[in-house]
Amino acid sequence: MKENNEAEKLLDQLAFKTESAWERWGEDQREKIFNFADGYKKFLSRAKTERETNKYIIAEAKDRGFVTLDEISSLNPGAKLYFDNRGRSSALVILGRKPICEGFRLVGSHIDSPRLDLKARPLYEDEGLALFKTQYYGGIKKYQWPVQPLALHGVVVLANGQSIDICIGEGPEDPVFCISDLLPHLASEQLGKKAKDAVAGEALNVIVGNLPYPKNNDLKERVKLAVLKLLYDTYGFTEEDLVSADLVAVPAGAARDVGFDRSLVGGYGQDDRVCVYASLRGFFDLTLPKHTAICFFADREEVGSMGNTGARSQFLANVVAELINRTDVVTPELKVRQALARAEALSADVNAAMDPSYPQVSDKRNAARLGYGISLTKYTGGRGKSGASEASAEFMGQVRTLLNKHDIPWQTGDLGKVDEGGGGTIAQFLADLGMDVLDAGVPILSMHSPFELASKADIYAAYKAYKVFWQSEV
Ligand code: MN
Ligand code: MN
Repeated sequence: MKENNEAEKLLDQLAFKTESAWERWGEDQREKIFNFADGYKKFLSRAKTERETNKYIIAEAKDRGFVTLDEISSLNPGAKLYFDNRGRSSALVILGRKPICEGFRLVGSHIDSPRLDLKARPLYEDEGLALFKTQYYGGIKKYQWPVQPLALHGVVVLANGQSIDICIGEGPEDPVFCISDLLPHLASEQLGKKAKDAVAGEALNVIVGNLPYPKNNDLKERVKLAVLKLLYDTYGFTEEDLVSADLVAVPAGAARDVGFDRSLVGGYGQDDRVCVYASLRGFFDLTLPKHTAICFFADREEVGSMGNTGARSQFLANVVAELINRTDVVTPELKVRQALARAEALSADVNAAMDPSYPQVSDKRNAARLGYGISLTKYTGGRGKSGASEASAEFMGQVRTLLNKHDIPWQTGDLGKVDEGGGGTIAQFLADLGMDVLDAGVPILSMHSPFELASKADIYAAYKAYKVFWQSEV
């Protein structure tokens, strides 16, 4: 008996235990967790593209007194700034008490999600239907996108430069759009294919109309013409205007509670808007930090972070250079480099949670689980850690100690078994700039699907974690 007690004591002292975030926080935190998730669902339901998300971020920041660099005469600790990169990526900054060249704290997430982009010449008619041709964006399982209500979001730029916002399919009275799929009766060939080939990319055609323009001699493609007329009458654009457009099809409808107990959130685009929202809310809660705090929102992560709004662009380095230029007498390039090299960052991106229906792809001892807190991922990549950066033991240790100190539930989360696959985040590109970076985000199920799943307890844990990371005086 005595020996047993001894062993238990030892276990308690030496073994690494993870605990359900729900249990760790107990009933008294439950209302806060659920309220937080309510705000998140509203955000998720209305911000479905990088443009809409960026617009939301900038509007919320302005409401809280954030200004552009041009609108402020002298930069003092506590100054609140926003940098808008082409309406598709942004950075919010709160100047800390220490000079920025001594380093800063950054939490970076991405505001783009997998979806179907319209091609430059999308509209055509076939078999009495008007359809849009699409090209998918990011890593999707193509068979998940047919036969579900889709909404159209984006902008169309007219010949005169005027930009027209489009959002059709989200209001209760709005029409939606959809992609057809074969009936099982005639799908024997399709069903014999590998899942990745079952739905071809060129079959992801969105049905947008069936009503022909009134008969007029032998005029062809009258359904297409009727759609064009409708678009012109309603929005004022022509077929050529669709060439200068960023129009995307995304799953229609609002984010929902999932489960009898309403403990989960289901909805499109939680990769990575769950970390976007958690970091944004944590950032707005900050009081004057010691280290300058940067909340960074990247576009184009799902396609490799390339492009002038992606994390590989010069945007972040330019923001730091602008800040140093305004807070220092001179701006040697060295100071910018020092600021970046001394910076610490959390790459706020979702990770794959252990799926009880597909346990074979995860190492159950190292995978994250829903409801066990924010997931810390030391490295991502695949095939022997390839294609990613890795957090140092020192930085990992610093973050872990910080979360423990603040009683924030966390867990580790590997992306799948060794050699099962892999993936990356913006972490490596922040690391390229010189920062210490750790991937820290919300674990989700059904990643990149039209209906992703997250636990409310983890969402709340992420919000708390990002906040203490920026606020920490260490
Ligand atoms: Mn992501
Ligand atoms: Mn992703």
